[in-house]
Amino acid sequence: MKPVLLIGAGGVGSVVAHKCAMLPEVFGPITLASRTLSKCDAIATQVKQRSGRELATAQVDADDVRQTAELIRRTGAKLLINVALPYQDLTLMDACLEAGCDYMDTANYEPKDVAKFEYSWQWAYQDRFAAAGLTALLGSGFDPGVTNVFTAWALKHQFDEIHTLDIIDVNGGNHGKAFATNFNPEINIREVTAPCRHYEGGGFVETAAMSQHQAFTCPQAVGTFEIYRMYHEELESLVKHLPSLRRAQFWMSFSPNYLKHLEVLQNVGMTRIDPVLYQGLQIVPLQFLKAVLPDPGDLGKSTKGKTCIGNVMTGLKDGQPKAIYIYNICDHEACFAEVGSQAISYTTGVPAMLGAKQILAGEWRKPGVWNIEQHDPDAFMADLQVHGLPWTCRELTPAQAASFQVV
Ligand code: NDP
Repeated sequence: MKPVLLIGAGGVGSVVAHKCAMLPEVFGPITLASRTLSKCDAIATQVKQRSGRELATAQVDADDVRQTAELIRRTGAKLLINVALPYQDLTLMDACLEAGCDYMDTANYEPKDVAKFEYSWQWAYQDRFAAAGLTALLGSGFDPGVTNVFTAWALKHQFDEIHTLDIIDVNGGNHGKAFATNFNPEINIREVTAPCRHYEGGGFVETAAMSQHQAFTCPQAVGTFEIYRMYHEELESLVKHLPSLRRAQFWMSFSPNYLKHLEVLQNVGMTRIDPVLYQGLQIVPLQFLKAVLPDPGDLGKSTKGKTCIGNVMTGLKDGQPKAIYIYNICDHEACFAEVGSQAISYTTGVPAMLGAKQILAGEWRKPGVWNIEQHDPDAFMADLQVHGLPWTCRELTPAQAASFQVV
């Protein structure tokens, strides 16, 4: 049972804290640290009430390598779980190298002043982690995360080669607010307003944001939703690690209400990430917008409905065309009853805990920097079934797969 340091006390951090605390046989002493200590203390109180487990808490500025390395040494942590923001990925990796600690996260690095995210910055740490004998696991949330593991599992058990991959992320939940984002508003809005890129014909093809969309009917009566093609980070690592892919696309559902608000916010300049001068102060409009929007961590109590996230994949098995759909359905109210969070935080936090479990068990402990699909998927897939994210795999005809007719 090794000590673990969890950094980030937002919606996802709360779920990771709860789920790690439920497995004392895997997770030794847990320290929850973040920029605002009171948020760590509030989560620790909830964890104590739900599981009886005491968490230590600490204040840390994760942008400060020296401060974080000191905290790692003080807690004796063997693994740092980064569920702060993508901006902190590199400083936290540096702190792990300095203090000799394994590292994992759920989202790839993004500089604060450019709305651009890619793996190159973190892949560049490969030699340093390998030389230090330390492991870094990248992208252990749901997407990226479970969707990558679904792909690796499908390649191992269902296909000889995969040709097309469509990741479909539907949030059929309703939080009852005029406008809110499911996770950190700044990161979420930067992601959905970026131009779309999908992989086809050996390279990435850029199209206008939200220009390609279609209706998608989820299984198990979750409902029919409009899904929009957009760029998502797992496409970059999956096309690298699965060279047989001919096309890879990512789709996410958005309600007309969400899109209407987003369009207005964009048009009036509230999604800008460059500073503007306001009453003598430099203010970044998107950061100000985050301050006035609902906190995603508080949406759990009002959110009803389900998420449905999965992969439609086609390829060859024994020389014959084959197609499958593999997915998880998660209920917002059930998540709230279990850990006090809505399903987006839950579907991210559970895989983060499971990735950490794999590293601590030594199964995924391999010096270097790894995307999650580079590890054996079987134990993680089995864990999903028992730790809150059960999945279903069903075979489709190639025609059903081509038209996304999964029900
Ligand atoms: P929140 O904004 O709710 O929480 C982020 C936390 O990080 C806050 O507690 C914040 O502190 C803390 N933090 C920010 N900057 C620093 C810093 N410099 N030092 C210390 N702590 C800091 O975000 P979410 O919980 O919604 O998301 C967490 C992560 O999960 C994000 O990286 C997001 O991209 C990722 N994610 C991944 C998904 C996946 O499926 N792979 C899906 C959803 C999210 P403070 O409270 O003071 O602001």
